Amino acid sequence: MAEIDKPTREVDVPGDWTYASAPESRDIVHIRDRYGYYVGGEWLEPAETYETIAPRDEEPLAAVGQATAEDVGRAVAAARTAYADGWSSLPGSERAKYLFRIARILQERAREFAVLESLNGGKPIKESRDVDLPLAAAHFFYYAGWADKLEYAFPNRRPRPVGVAGQIIPWNFPLLMLAWKVAPALACGNTVVLKPAETTPLTALLFCDVLRQAELPDGVVNIVTGDGRTGAALVESEDVDKIAFTGSTEVGKAIQRQLAGTGKRLTLELGGKAANIVFDDAALDQAVEGIVNGIYFNQGHVCCAGSRLFVQESIYEPLVAKLERRLTTLRVGDPLDKNTDVGAINSAAQLEKIRELVASGEEEGATIYQPPCVLPEKGYWFAPTVFTNVAQSYRIAQEEIFGPVLSVLTFRTPEEAVEKANNTPYGLSAGVWTEKGSRILWMAQRLRAGVVWANTFNRFDPGSPFGGYKESGFGREGGRHGLEPYLEFEE
Ligand code: NDP
Repeated sequence: MAEIDKPTREVDVPGDWTYASAPESRDIVHIRDRYGYYVGGEWLEPAETYETIAPRDEEPLAAVGQATAEDVGRAVAAARTAYADGWSSLPGSERAKYLFRIARILQERAREFAVLESLNGGKPIKESRDVDLPLAAAHFFYYAGWADKLEYAFPNRRPRPVGVAGQIIPWNFPLLMLAWKVAPALACGNTVVLKPAETTPLTALLFCDVLRQAELPDGVVNIVTGDGRTGAALVESEDVDKIAFTGSTEVGKAIQRQLAGTGKRLTLELGGKAANIVFDDAALDQAVEGIVNGIYFNQGHVCCAGSRLFVQESIYEPLVAKLERRLTTLRVGDPLDKNTDVGAINSAAQLEKIRELVASGEEEGATIYQPPCVLPEKGYWFAPTVFTNVAQSYRIAQEEIFGPVLSVLTFRTPEEAVEKANNTPYGLSAGVWTEKGSRILWMAQRLRAGVVWANTFNRFDPGSPFGGYKESGFGREGGRHGLEPYLEFEE
């Protein structure tokens, strides 16, 4: 047979695939030197301020008000006046128009908000641009749709608004958590006093500009900034009818104790220690992408992060090898660079907490792996980390680290996977990776978690309820369920 003449020409393949830097310009955002509180449609001058910084390099960004109990009282009074003066009795179709407007303006100004979110919070611009902003706008669109259909959402129950809602949000998804809280509250006819987290107030303050652009009546949304003392003052305020809190389990418990017996409504969305469970029939490369997304998305500052990876014993070695290889391709660095996968840790305090828990993992006997990466000298940084040889009793397998740190454990049977996954005080989310639909359903019925993702992780949609079991809190946000905490029913 004639030999086929194969060309032997060498192809010139580049050896170095390093990305060139692609920084997003920050010129699109104007940050003021100083911010007050947004109360009754006006900016109130604060008596005391603190500095908010950029975690990527500790650059001071602005002076922000530290609201006192008196300031909080003014905000609550403004919300009460707006509630009584017409917002609560406005037809739902009219309230919907404001929500639609807010959603549209957020879309129009998405880039500005995304840059500010990454600057003040440290998350990669591709996440704030492609996840936080589209989802925040989607929440306002979604709840705009419900505003005039509450009677249909809850037939024969005659829904009416609760009153003034005090809302306290964390620093991991500042604008998105604002949207999760403000959109359903307004759709149901409530007015709001919102306190953003101390370290990430800037997108909430820029949002006040959106409220003005949308011509939302004065006092319907009020924003007070400050540290935990401001949050505590809001919880204590007598004229608040409902508190919605997202944050740590510790503070959530304190709030619940404080509100017990007051008759005030409460929803808590607290911590998590989610299990991401991979069976031996799963598509491994896809699972690795899901694991990476589950724990390194937003530097692991995610309450539903897949921080405990359970791998079926027969695929443990190939899976860990693939995972470690994938980690070497993650780009850690400037949050404003469009190529960055893992940005800056949100604050010095959070970095300290991550370091302390990682040290405990090493001391207790787990094996640590971190890919080679050069971390910037200034700012708050932590390399993506995987722990193997982890026992369930180790602190890194029990406590919420809220950082880019994964603990890998193993299981043999589905029963064992369920038992180990549920061995936690939390119950916010879980992930299952398998090709068998029946197994997914079997697992989902047994996992004590508010959300179970199948062959994916960290998927969000405004139409889908989100919330916890056990120490992850109670109440649901998103979907039709997310309306209920903001409504009273005459039954
Ligand atoms: P916190 O629970 O302290 O913060 C959440 C929000 O509550 C912030 O706005 C905070 O204000 C406010 N707050 C603090 N103390 C009080 C109080 N006594 N009464 C009312 N409101 C209060 O979380 P941290 O920021 O301190 O983070 C600590 C840990 O909590 C993290 O390491 C992580 O494990 C977990 N966490 C979980 C989150 C989740 O989404 N489930 C989100 C954030 C953190 P301020 O920011 O000014 O302190």
